[in-house]
Amino acid sequence: MRAVLVGPPGAGKGTQAQILASDLSIPQVSTGDIFRANVSGGTELGKRAKEYMDRGDLVPDEVTNAMVKDRLSQDDTAGGFLLDGFPRNVPQAEKLGEMLADLKVDLDIVLELKVDEEEVVKRLSGRRSCSECGRAYHVEYDAPAVEGVCDTDGVALYQRQDDREDTIRHRLEVYRKQTAPLVDFYASQGLLSAISATGSVGEVTARAKAAIKEKASGADA
Ligand code: ADP
Ligand code: AMP
Repeated sequence: MRAVLVGPPGAGKGTQAQILASDLSIPQVSTGDIFRANVSGGTELGKRAKEYMDRGDLVPDEVTNAMVKDRLSQDDTAGGFLLDGFPRNVPQAEKLGEMLADLKVDLDIVLELKVDEEEVVKRLSGRRSCSECGRAYHVEYDAPAVEGVCDTDGVALYQRQDDREDTIRHRLEVYRKQTAPLVDFYASQGLLSAISATGSVGEVTARAKAAIKEKASGADA
């Protein structure tokens, strides 16, 4: 299974990607997580990416595309992957097409998570993240067993720098202008499957699994 998750920031891409990737036994490739690991590790890549991330802008394509190309050339992605947060604009989608053509593989599905903007603002302003495993919690909707502590790793959760209301609004604008056109781009290739991302995490996972199953059976037919 080679899948892409598309949706506004806060739609639940990371939450669903982590569950689905584990269920399908394929790696989750989250460009946001890779950038954040580089920022906290103080690498050159992290230093380049940080200013864009803090503003809520996209990191330049040349940097992002090279990072994804490198990640998709690693052995663990040979049997499939779930891309979360990439591509984020049409030029990145075109570049992904070239990378996959070089690897002689195809995408199976682009899953769009649909949720309205006010819900997204509520989700992002209450998001708390684990720096160890990347899992996102929510202070109200998906709280850890012990407040402020990751259930899996026992480390303190943190609030992302870009989860402040002014930056959230800017990221939504970036989504509308740059990322939303991917919906038509992939629909025209017959790859798009859209599901509602409202309701509980479990309900959204069930819809995602049904959409993946439907695409897979359509491909066999
Ligand atoms: P994205 O990766 O799309 O930016 P996340 O997966 O990090 O989104 O989720 C954003 C926030 O919303 C997190 O705090 C997460 O716990 C919460 N969240 C995710 N899915 C749901 C859901 N179905 N209902 C309520 N809150 C959710
Ligand atoms: P995310 O974790 O997906 O919300 O991404 C956090 C931030 O990382 C974004 O606001 C961007 O600054 C950067 N980023 C993540 N993925 C990409 C991408 N595909 N292209 C450009 N920037 C990205």
